[in-house]
Amino acid sequence: MKKEYQKMIVITAPSGAGKTSITRHLMRVFPQLAFSISAATRKPRSNEKNGIDYYFISVEEFQKKILNEEFVEWEMVYEGKYYGTLKSELRRMWNNEQVPVLDIDVQGAIHVQKEYPVNSLFIFIKPPSIDELKRRLESRGSESAESIQTRVSKAAYELSFVNQFSHVIENKDFETACKEAEQIVKDFINN
Ligand code: 5GP
Repeated sequence: MKKEYQKMIVITAPSGAGKTSITRHLMRVFPQLAFSISAATRKPRSNEKNGIDYYFISVEEFQKKILNEEFVEWEMVYEGKYYGTLKSELRRMWNNEQVPVLDIDVQGAIHVQKEYPVNSLFIFIKPPSIDELKRRLESRGSESAESIQTRVSKAAYELSFVNQFSHVIENKDFETACKEAEQIVKDFINN
């Protein structure tokens, strides 16, 4: 396997900062990128499909995979809800000579940064403010008031890790943020 295909891109941000939209944009622009589908134990949202957005599995199955060391990283992102990046997923993409893109939470990204310090690109997407983040989560309409509150509290904590990332993009204006991300990714995959 050629070394350049061992590259990976990790996009992280507090929930609601827009990282999934920016990730989707990057996937459209760069055909060599492939979205790393995580395993998760939360319930699918109405627009989500198993094997496309996530591999939705039970807590028991997830815990079995932890014991079998099938994850690159995993986190209990929210109380009782596990999310994790599967080694098999990255292997599959590298075998296809694609660059995996991980859309994961901040603790997961820090974990991957320790495990894969070489050949990986880490981008932190920053919301303009916590208030704006709350507004975006509310307008998404997919979360309960309680879930929004949990995500907002967690976001404030996650923002405190911003200094650990060399590439930080403030998502004030979506198009500008996408252009910035494009340039960073372009430089990374061409090197
Ligand atoms: P959501 O429930 O909104 O899809 O995702 C919640 C959070 O979990 C997001 O920040 C998302 O990026 C993160 N996440 C998704 N997959 C993984 C993963 O495999 N590992 C980690 N650590 N976080 C993940």
